Amino acid sequence: MTKIDLHDYVASVKDYPEEGVTFRDISPLMGNGQAYKEAIDQIVDFAKDLNVDLIAGPESRGFIVGSPLAYALGVGFVPARKVGKLPRKAVSASYTLEYGGVNELEIHEDAIKPGQRVLIVDDLLATGGTINATRKIVEELGGVVAGVTFIIELEALHGREKIMEAGQVPFLALMEY
Ligand code: 5GP
Repeated sequence: MTKIDLHDYVASVKDYPEEGVTFRDISPLMGNGQAYKEAIDQIVDFAKDLNVDLIAGPESRGFIVGSPLAYALGVGFVPARKVGKLPRKAVSASYTLEYGGVNELEIHEDAIKPGQRVLIVDDLLATGGTINATRKIVEELGGVVAGVTFIIELEALHGREKIMEAGQVPFLALMEY
């Protein structure tokens, strides 16, 4: 069987959600069993030596990447939800959005135990705000960031540098744009 090129499953949408921005839509990748499996398998390969106890991912596409990964690794999944959705006591962090505005994420305070090694995942890294807010909560709860991983990294926005400024961690992006 020929190896899949994941780039073939990213739809680039010009001027979305606003003029001058090209949105990288991973719906075709998620919608194709072979491509979805290939992406998750590549991340599993990266994660298997990181001693991961938990996967954490931000709402909502982080759930789509993180859940199959947690299943494949046999570890739990911790959702970082948009504020106001969790029923019990939670810890939150706010961050600035790529296209302006502020957002807030939160994680149940008992979701991560001190010392647990957490792999943080999302579909795409842009400015790094989302992932760094998730990381801030994970660390506030005593978790250790085992690594961060994405399907896509938008290089020009320097999100990776922002992540490393908060502390060096193993990093994987399956594709760079
Ligand atoms: P950041 O916080 O790094 O600036 O933005 C990343 C977050 O915004 C991710 O949660 C991601 O889902 C979403 N996002 C921003 N731009 C894009 C894009 O072009 N494509 C996709 N799929 N998600 C994006």
